[in-house]
Amino acid sequence: MLTARNLTKNYSNLPVLKGVDIQVSKGEIVTIVGSSGAGKSTLLHLLGTLDTPTSGQIFLHDEDVTALRGKALADFRNQHIGFIFQFHHLLPEFTAMENVCIPGYIAGHPKKGVKERAMFLLDTLGLGSRQDHKPSALSGGEQQRVAVARALINTPAIVMADEPTGNLDSHNARELHQLFFSLRDQFNQTFVIVTHNEELAPLSDRQLVMKDGKIVDEIKSVSH
Ligand code: ADP
Ligand code: ADP
Repeated sequence: MLTARNLTKNYSNLPVLKGVDIQVSKGEIVTIVGSSGAGKSTLLHLLGTLDTPTSGQIFLHDEDVTALRGKALADFRNQHIGFIFQFHHLLPEFTAMENVCIPGYIAGHPKKGVKERAMFLLDTLGLGSRQDHKPSALSGGEQQRVAVARALINTPAIVMADEPTGNLDSHNARELHQLFFSLRDQFNQTFVIVTHNEELAPLSDRQLVMKDGKIVDEIKSVSH
């Protein structure tokens, strides 16, 4: 599903990633852990095509994404990669339903189909009765689940999550990870999750431990 080879990233000649190799299979839930400044977010941004590596290659869904530029890159990203961030970044003036639909409209899918899928996702995520609410009328846990539905609207190959539980209490944080597992079980959805939450990181199939711009360890989860 995702292969990255010998990725490096320099910021004004300062090496931040120093040769990272990653392979993620379809349906896997992989967490990236490590102390602050280790390069986790930088790596996720590269894997999500939000930033370009200084050197190295990334293959996603059989496409060499490091070769894509401009509109082709933007289209590929919107179609094949879902994003969840620490802060949900929902548009405050739109309802939950509208927020979920927007990436589907941008992708040019027929409106009826987008709305049906949005409804299905909101129902699946336990938000069926909240679809007409604006973000400010939803709880923190609900807002983040709307962001998950939005990430899934275009049936992405992979979802990249950067500290998705960073703004949630421990109960909602745990529920969000359990939701990732349920989406994997139902739809074989693939997730790469950056987290510094040591309790939640093992709620995954595999933890990649980053230190000083490299992956220094890999921990297979025994059970979740
Ligand atoms: P983590 O997510 O593990 O905390 P980051 O990927 O955010 O680590 O950062 C890794 C290193 O790269 C840090 O030293 C950070 O200061 C530096 N860095 C991140 N983004 C930039 C940037 N846009 N310009 C310069 N340095 C950056
Ligand atoms: P959670 O434990 O998921 O954070 P809360 O205890 O914050 O949930 O909220 C419980 C219920 O109250 C939820 O259904 C939520 O949508 C609703 N709710 C929370 N804040 C507001 C608000 N400002 N306006 C309307 N409903 C709200």
